[in-house]
Amino acid sequence: MTRRFPSPLVVAAALLSAAAPLPAQRPFSGAAEIEQSLYKLNELGTVLHIAAHPDDERTNTLAYFARGRHMRTAYLSLTRGEGGQNLIGSEQGAQLGIIRTQELLDARQIDGAEQFFSRAIDFGFTRTPEETLQKWGHDRILSDIVWIIRRYRPDIIINGFSGTPRDGHGQHQASAILSKEAFTAAADPTKFPEQLKWVQPWQAKRLIQAAGFGGPPAAAGGGRGGRGGRGASQPQPAAPAAESTEPPGPSADTAAFNPVLGYSYDELAVLSRSMHHSQGTGAMRRPDGARSTFTVIGGPPARDDLFEGIDTTWNRLPGGAPIGAIFADAIRSFQPAHPEKVIPFLVKACPLVAAIDDPLAKVKLAELDETIAACAGLWIEAQAHQPETAPGANFNVTTTVVNRSTAPVSFDSARIEGLFNVDLAVKPGPLAYNQPATVEFSRAVPAGQPYTQPFWLAKKPTADAYQIDDQLLIGLADNPPAAKVRLHLTVDGAPIEIVRPVHFRYADRAQGERLRPAVIVPAVAVNLPMPVALFPDSASRKVQISVHANVANPEGEVRLELPAGWKAAPASQPFKLERAGEQEVVTFTVTPPAGETTASMRAVARVAGRDIANGAQVIAYPHIPSQALFPASDIKLVRANIKVTARKIGYIMGAGDEIPDALRQFGLDVTLLSQSDLEQGDLSRFDAIVAGVRAYNVRAGVRANHSRLMEYVRNGGTYVVQYQMGDSPDPNAQHNANQPAPPPQLTFGQNTTPVTTNLGPYPFAVPFGNKYRVTVEEAPVKLTNLDSPLLQYPNHINPKDFDGWVQERGLYFAAQWDPHYQTVLASQDPGEDPLAGGEIWTRYGKGVYIFTAYAWFRQLPAGVPGAWRLFANLLSAK
Ligand SMILES: [Zn+2]
Repeated sequence: MTRRFPSPLVVAAALLSAAAPLPAQRPFSGAAEIEQSLYKLNELGTVLHIAAHPDDERTNTLAYFARGRHMRTAYLSLTRGEGGQNLIGSEQGAQLGIIRTQELLDARQIDGAEQFFSRAIDFGFTRTPEETLQKWGHDRILSDIVWIIRRYRPDIIINGFSGTPRDGHGQHQASAILSKEAFTAAADPTKFPEQLKWVQPWQAKRLIQAAGFGGPPAAAGGGRGGRGGRGASQPQPAAPAAESTEPPGPSADTAAFNPVLGYSYDELAVLSRSMHHSQGTGAMRRPDGARSTFTVIGGPPARDDLFEGIDTTWNRLPGGAPIGAIFADAIRSFQPAHPEKVIPFLVKACPLVAAIDDPLAKVKLAELDETIAACAGLWIEAQAHQPETAPGANFNVTTTVVNRSTAPVSFDSARIEGLFNVDLAVKPGPLAYNQPATVEFSRAVPAGQPYTQPFWLAKKPTADAYQIDDQLLIGLADNPPAAKVRLHLTVDGAPIEIVRPVHFRYADRAQGERLRPAVIVPAVAVNLPMPVALFPDSASRKVQISVHANVANPEGEVRLELPAGWKAAPASQPFKLERAGEQEVVTFTVTPPAGETTASMRAVARVAGRDIANGAQVIAYPHIPSQALFPASDIKLVRANIKVTARKIGYIMGAGDEIPDALRQFGLDVTLLSQSDLEQGDLSRFDAIVAGVRAYNVRAGVRANHSRLMEYVRNGGTYVVQYQMGDSPDPNAQHNANQPAPPPQLTFGQNTTPVTTNLGPYPFAVPFGNKYRVTVEEAPVKLTNLDSPLLQYPNHINPKDFDGWVQERGLYFAAQWDPHYQTVLASQDPGEDPLAGGEIWTRYGKGVYIFTAYAWFRQLPAGVPGAWRLFANLLSAK
């Protein structure tokens, strides 16, 4: 066990893959998994695929290289997809990024690739790479890509995009522009020399452009398979294949069937992409498909295969040749029912692999140890006794090893690392067949231990990039585990080392076995009702703070820390809780200053001498491991004069937004309308009814009861419909908000057009695609009809009300409308024609109908005062 003294450089490279995700399920196991591992041990090629977002990746290409060619394969998504629309819940921004991170990790479990991210944040749809690079910081994100290339050391880099306007989304273009620069910069020691403390310069052999989606055309007849098994969510190829005059470039048989796994790579791609629940990319397998084609844009040309002329055998490493021969023997000797028979070959290779001081050899050594453990049927687990532990409480872990084969295995030693660095009390000795050997560990978590947070959220991000102080964390997909156990075993005479994160495995009665990371949590969480408190006049209002116990018997007091000019009473409130999971609500009266202002307040609980200023939030969905985060218990205080005459609001929740809570915070009486309310409820009791974002897209009951809603308007109601998506031209396809729009053909009453028309009392058209949106949140907005009641009552709107908006102005504007409608506002992105269809309205019977595609679902929860005044006018329209 003296074989491992790798250089710091080697450690840094190996660490990049250390954050193994907690699988929602294991797609492959047993003989299929072991056979894959054996082939992978004898394959030294590495592929890095780069694009901008979760769901941009060519999943079939990842599956082909990872599962078919057994290469190390990774997808670098520059962002975590924070700016997209959430199809499964109300999470937005950083929280949506957390969901998409886990969805990508689930997808990678299926296609077999690894996952990386840069610090870039998806700030929403943009038309230009210039805006993207300016917001992200060109050098910052270039440095991240260079860092990941230097650590992962790919032979080939595959760009998903071309870096030209054909890519559509400005972030797509920027991903390719930066990747091209990084291909050269990673090899240049004068570029980002501060990284050379941990890594060496690295020149990838080839830079590749994947076909379709802004690149060269996909293979003839490529269809879904040729475009990466992405179905219709993949933008169209730049030109039909038939018009191509380019010679056929290198390609990959991504439609090939893998009999060991029982799927083609295109099928794996569909299964993998279907993990992106929050994007609605669920798709269906198809047996057909074509080769994926590529263009070499950097490095030596290649005629047929992307790895032409690149040695991916052990011969590429000094001292590697005999290792390749041994692994070839192992593969020849593999019998699915008796994997232990290959252990002697693997054991023979161990010292030879360990002797090579090269980052790739160290990665292979860890793979080799895992493969030996798999061949020996070893069960190795570090199980926390509870998923959450507070500082000061005991962190209890049971480490279990079981030998489920006839191979001779001894358990030599183990050490817990991370939270603690302590040797475990292992009784060294041989493991009896199927007899668990367990080691207990229990120690108090240090009082000052930081809480477990997604590392990219530990510091407040700017709007467009995360701030990460530890260079070694940059690029990682997920948190390193709070604690892990490093075990040393001897299998058939060879020492191996296995690392397992400390996790919490449990049974959910409905879903079966589930896994969560073991995390450190505050003793109590100080939860605020909303991130924003609005004071529409100078009157005081009550603010409720809920204290949630994560441990038994916490006791203390809560206080509010307020900026000058604001007052709270009382000064503090005591609380006393008994059981973990209980909560208590305390109430303060907060008085704002007379004048308009914006400030920040913090709620702090003092427990056992420690101030806790964190709330707790768990993001839980069946398809991903639950994610806990502990945001600062800060609340934004907005003192702004806002008048509203409506009181009772009916809200038709669509795909999920936070407007109802925001309206309640404002003091309105909000009722969420159920299916039966829509069918037979008394709608006349509401001053206004609001349709949530995409309500007409996701709730059949809304369309079905549209005539009742129109009757409500006719009888004097006010009905406000927020943005709805245009229908996709392919009824079997899900719409990807990132793709360029097909040219709209606006013909009312004909079924051939990709538009949504039946949202109001008179027709108007919302086209499918991105043309009719305003993505720049500072884009000028013109008040085109200043006398309109929507701009005058009860709040007088002026241009300043469009200051301070977040992410975007609006999306899915109407493109054409019946002459009964009046317009109010016009806005456009730089260089575009003004769009007047963002807000149209009409009187109908005794009531008012308003369609408004401005992004209220972002502005109201963010407490943007002008947006509140504008929206208050919509609710108050008569
Ligand atoms: Zn994208």
